[in-house]
Amino acid sequence: MDCLFCKIANGEIPAQIIYRDDLIVAFDDINPQAPQHKIIIPQKHIATLNELRGEDSELIGYMVQSAVMLAKQLNIAHDGYRVLFNCNAGAGQSVFHIHLHLLGGRRMNWPPG
Ligand code: 5GP
Ligand code: ZN
Repeated sequence: MDCLFCKIANGEIPAQIIYRDDLIVAFDDINPQAPQHKIIIPQKHIATLNELRGEDSELIGYMVQSAVMLAKQLNIAHDGYRVLFNCNAGAGQSVFHIHLHLLGGRRMNWPPG
């Protein structure tokens, strides 16, 4: 499948991988929007949040728990961090394999742009 994040997950395209297990891969964003900007993807290809099925609930929960674990490891948990999914082009999704952004290390403004 011609998917950038599947290729990062299977090692065809290199990335600064910071965590990997059977379910997920986490790596540095190539164009960081904050001092810490990590991307967490499922190993399973799911194009957008709109394609989520009931059976994916545990996987999504696990992605969020993993973001919290990484935030603690990166020492941004206390000051604050943001985790988010963009869904479809109108929200800024540019890679169509769902991914959780983990951003921290600076003040996060609200509302986002
Ligand atoms: P989206 O805009 O789809 O929510 O987020 C996609 C993210 O993937 C962007 O923040 C972008 O910088 C990042 N990205 C795009 N291509 C690559 C790549 O080849 N390697 C890595 N590490 N990140 C990428
Ligand atoms: Zn994919």
